[in-house]
Amino acid sequence: MHSWREECAVFGAWGDPEASRMTYLGLYAQQHRGQESSGIVSLQDGQHNVHRGMGLVGDVFKEADLMRLSGKAAVGHNRYSTTGASLQFNIQPLSAHLLNGPVALAHNGNFVNADEMREELKQSGAIFQGTNDTECLLHMLARNKSNDIVTCLKESLPRLVGAYSMVLMTNDRLIAARDPFGFRPLVLGKRPIGDGSFSWVVASETCAFDLIGAKLVREIEPGEIVWFDNSGEHRDKIPQQAPRLAKCVFEHVYFARPDSQVFGLSVYDSRKRMGEALARENKVEADLVIPVPDSGTPAAIGYARESGIPFELGIIRNHYIGRTFIQPSQSIRSFGVKIKLNAQSELLKGKRVVVIDDSIVRGTTSQKIIRLVRAAGAKEVHFRIASPPTTGPCYYGVDTPGKSQLIAAQNSLDQIREFIDADSLAYLSVEGMMKAVRGSSEEFCSACFDGNYPTKIDEDPKESSRDSVDKK
Ligand code: AMP
Repeated sequence: MHSWREECAVFGAWGDPEASRMTYLGLYAQQHRGQESSGIVSLQDGQHNVHRGMGLVGDVFKEADLMRLSGKAAVGHNRYSTTGASLQFNIQPLSAHLLNGPVALAHNGNFVNADEMREELKQSGAIFQGTNDTECLLHMLARNKSNDIVTCLKESLPRLVGAYSMVLMTNDRLIAARDPFGFRPLVLGKRPIGDGSFSWVVASETCAFDLIGAKLVREIEPGEIVWFDNSGEHRDKIPQQAPRLAKCVFEHVYFARPDSQVFGLSVYDSRKRMGEALARENKVEADLVIPVPDSGTPAAIGYARESGIPFELGIIRNHYIGRTFIQPSQSIRSFGVKIKLNAQSELLKGKRVVVIDDSIVRGTTSQKIIRLVRAAGAKEVHFRIASPPTTGPCYYGVDTPGKSQLIAAQNSLDQIREFIDADSLAYLSVEGMMKAVRGSSEEFCSACFDGNYPTKIDEDPKESSRDSVDKK
């Protein structure tokens, strides 16, 4: 089985007396982007201090670890995993000692040509430690003859196709780079550190800045390299043109936190607009609008406002679910979803209910939720999805299964409706979604919804049995 590991958060701080603590908090705020492992590398007197581990940010770092991560610069990473064996070697930031000193690298996104690059590097003698695509870049940097890391990056990155929003740290610099397509978000901020001075911070999402009291300065532009050293802030361009922009629309649909600004837009607002558009496109007579918490909540607010149907929290989520729990006896049915979600029968009994969720992937969650809502006494269940049918896998950093497991890639609308057992089912149109993110198919990647992949994809790696590279 090809086990894909994707979705990540990155963070970096420069010139901050509490660099590793800010990084810790920045990772904490971005925990939703990756729960498998976490790591921080700090810079002190030209040397790197490293702490990495499996698990959530709060479990990986203890006070003593943060004390040890001293220095005024740091880089951090949260890594996501779905299933499959997890390798210590894959925990980021990746570290290496190159000719010009230490390098730490934190990457969000996927290189789509990682398999070929890995093969080529192996042929020329590279020894790989982990199974991730990010390591390719470290080997390319190591082989580059320039003693300037930015030159090394400018010469290496154009050979890697795909998505990268990354933060690197050497013995004297913090560098942030975003691929020319602009797939994944990356933002630059400033944190006041007293006496009118400030430190520089870089993060995947602005919610990390809110927690540490940093101000958003701007997005790192697609194709831009920004770096900080003792002489200040510098910028350059990656010498590679993308045929178009390809900002991931799924960040707005599901992935990013609603309190973040992604690609210059409030995620909360765009989700509400998706709900409003969904209501305009797919009207239904009903008594209540209820969200699937938390992913469907902003869209349900929008749907209720636009349709005039009252909004209620008909499903309540338990926020304290750990990674594992003891299974009950066989006699408790549909236990899996019930531990997380509970439907309120006092509210739902005898009602015609519109249930709103952000997306359907395999369809199994929707099926269980509808069962739950019906068991609570709902008379009719109308399922509304605040994005178009998910018909294609993502190769650029979002964890979606192969086409064969995507219910909308294999079935008609009515077959899906039947499978999830809804009285009616409707999705948002691609046009409605694009309007909600104030964009178009020329600047957003919506390949998971329309099959319009911005890079060449030879075969579906998510269906293939090749297992050389796990994507983050
Ligand atoms: P499924 O049972 O596979 O249809 O799961 C669909 C649910 O998973 C939706 O309610 C989404 O909120 C959520 N979801 C969608 N995409 C992802 C993803 N890439 N990673 C984790 N959860 C997701």
